[in-house]
Amino acid sequence: MARVVVTGGAGFLGSHLCEALLDRGDEVVALDNLLTGDVANIEHLFARPGFTFVRHDVSTFIWVPGPVDAVLHFASPASPRDYLEMPIQTLKVGSLGTHNSLGLAKAKGARFLLASTSEVYGDPQVHPQHESYWGHVNPVGPRGVYDEAKRFAEAMTMAYHRYHGLDVRIVRIFNTYGPRMRVDDGRVVSNFLVQALQGKPLTVYGDGSQTRSFCYVDDEIRGVLDLLDSDVTGPVNIGNPDEYTVRELAELVLEVTGSSSEIVHEPLPADDPAQRRPDITLARTALGWRPEVDLREGLARTADWFRRTLG
Ligand code: UDP
Repeated sequence: MARVVVTGGAGFLGSHLCEALLDRGDEVVALDNLLTGDVANIEHLFARPGFTFVRHDVSTFIWVPGPVDAVLHFASPASPRDYLEMPIQTLKVGSLGTHNSLGLAKAKGARFLLASTSEVYGDPQVHPQHESYWGHVNPVGPRGVYDEAKRFAEAMTMAYHRYHGLDVRIVRIFNTYGPRMRVDDGRVVSNFLVQALQGKPLTVYGDGSQTRSFCYVDDEIRGVLDLLDSDVTGPVNIGNPDEYTVRELAELVLEVTGSSSEIVHEPLPADDPAQRRPDITLARTALGWRPEVDLREGLARTADWFRRTLG
């Protein structure tokens, strides 16, 4: 049993992580400023022994009383719509928030895990993306606020590891979906499912030939915990390598939901990566991890959740 601090604990991934940690008997202190997180994601955890929530912006100094065994830094706007609307907060939580979270881990002698992202690869010129690829990021483009914040966060994490001897882990999370995504977060899976369930047109950006590889949230969280428990520093890609075009995703969403919505096209956002697929050789060999939920099954589960949420 461990006492674990989760930043962004009321967010989509953070809340699933808190729940998985409690399920295995850990104590959890969730920190969140509720900028994109939502107390509704963790309401069901308040009654559980060992769960504490503190409303706090981790871009300012963090202090948690008592012993801490691990700090998992998951706080950040993560949907392109969110980080384009909140560019400064995104840069701050990736830089100052990472520094403060590392400082907490160092003060407590705790292990530190950074939630990094496939966005460190930018619009990749190497496919699929292996951890050894340095990426292709436009630092001054609109997505740069997220990509460069996470790249800084990785560099800061490795500096604490090398200079202070801090025990660290870096996970590069690829597109993840599942229950508790916000209805209006603007990401492709939530947009398409909500549009399909409401009988509205599915908005494919560009011609829909760009690809993504979608990981169901339970698989993603299991991978994160496998990395946390391992002695692998990383970075390690955790994502589902099954690659789909956005157009194929739209068609699958229509099929899974039984919706007769039409598909319409809207302009492609600036610097939208043309392709993305994780090479998960390292996760498979070093952690024994692989995803188990395929896209059809995961979409069906997520559609059920959106149906209930939308009432
Ligand atoms: N996308 C789309 N329609 C939408 C939302 C997103 O076609 O309503 C596309 C977007 O341009 C990108 C892909 O779907 O190519 C994934 O977008 P998302 O915002 O989910 O995450 P990203 O992988 O770009 O960070």
